[in-house]
Order: sequence, then C-alpha cells, then structure tokens
Amino acid sequence: MFNLSEIKKIQDHIVCLHSKEEVEAVIDKVAAEMNEKFADEAPLFLCVMNGAVIFMGQLISRLTFPLQIDYIHTSRYRGTMTGSDLRWISEPTISLKDRTIVVIEDILDSGVTLAAILEYCRQHGAKAVYTAALVDKDHPRAEGGVEKADFTGLYVENKFLVGYGLDYQEFFRNLPGIYAVQKTENGR
Ligand code: IMP
Ligand code: MG
Repeated sequence: MFNLSEIKKIQDHIVCLHSKEEVEAVIDKVAAEMNEKFADEAPLFLCVMNGAVIFMGQLISRLTFPLQIDYIHTSRYRGTMTGSDLRWISEPTISLKDRTIVVIEDILDSGVTLAAILEYCRQHGAKAVYTAALVDKDHPRAEGGVEKADFTGLYVENKFLVGYGLDYQEFFRNLPGIYAVQKTENGR
C-alpha cells in the first residue's frame, strides 16, 4: 500500500529535466529514423509494460509503415527505487518467429531488462531484434546488460526519474515530461 502524503511530498519536490515539448521532439526524431529503417519490414513492436506505454503510443502514431503491436511485461524494480529481481508477468501473444521485432522500453538503466528481453525474442525465433529507449540513463551498465539501444530519445543524468511512463511506486507515469525525484529527509 502507498502513503499518499509521501507521494504528494515527492510530487512537490520533483524537478523537470525535459519538458513535454522536448520529449515530443525526440519522439519525432526517433519516428523519422524508424520510418526510414523499417519501411519494408512489417515489424512487430513490443511494448515493455508498463513504463513504455506512453512512448509506444506516441511513437507508433508517427510511424507510416505497416506494423503490428504486442506487449511484454517484466518487472525489475517492484515499484521501488532499487532492487534487482526480474519477473516475467506477461508474454506476447503474436508469434515472434521469423519477425523483425522492435522492443520499446522507457529507460535503459543497468541494461539487464533489455538484455533479458532480447534473449527472449531470439529464443522465440525472431529474425532480427531492435531496441528503442526513450531515456538512456547515465548509469553504469551491469555485466551482460545492453550498452546502448538502437534508437535513443534522451540521454539523462543518473537520477531517479519519473514521468512519461516512468514511475515511483507506480505513480507519476502520467506526468507530461521527464522529472528527477529529489531526496527528502526520509531518504527518498
Ligand atoms: P534496467 O534493467 O536496470 O535497465 O532497468 C530498466 C527498468 O528499470 C525500466 O524499464 C524501468 O522500469 C526501471 N527503471 C530504471 N531506472 C528508473 C528510473 O529512474 N525511474 C523509474 N524506473 C526506472
Ligand atoms: Mg519499465
């Protein structure tokens, strides 16, 4: 269960790093690159739930080539700011076999989540797998983690970020920009 007064306190102390306009401009840029790259591939876009849902929606509405969408749900942070366990919650229903897959992720942090999803796609027979991250966080990658997505929106400093799909305890995904959570007296 969450503590609403704590959530409100955090919201009062967040700092906007990238406005809605800036984020939309980088989504335009990623979409233009993809329109060039995937014109004849009929790719399957996999949304990494829940964080990528806003990026995915805004991105695909800018794409002009035939594509399909599905989603994959794996969780690493368990709604908190730290933690490392990876859990598989939901798998795609469309077959990945012989398909070009584009994995859409909210943020590249240690790179472990994307590495696990890439491995999943390959094991399920994907012909080619590409990755896109709205945010590349300046945080050391874990061993075996993905170093860099094929398509990156913003490069952001190593802070805990919320907004545009990114959450703290499942809150703040709706914020229209990328915000940093400031530390408060209880350590958050
Ligand atoms: P990675 O496996 O360490 O690259 O972490 C990727 C996942 O961790 C993302 O899909 C997010 O759900 C979560 N994550 C990493 N950094 C942040 C952050 O700054 N804010 C919110 N979620 C984050
Ligand atoms: Mg996520």
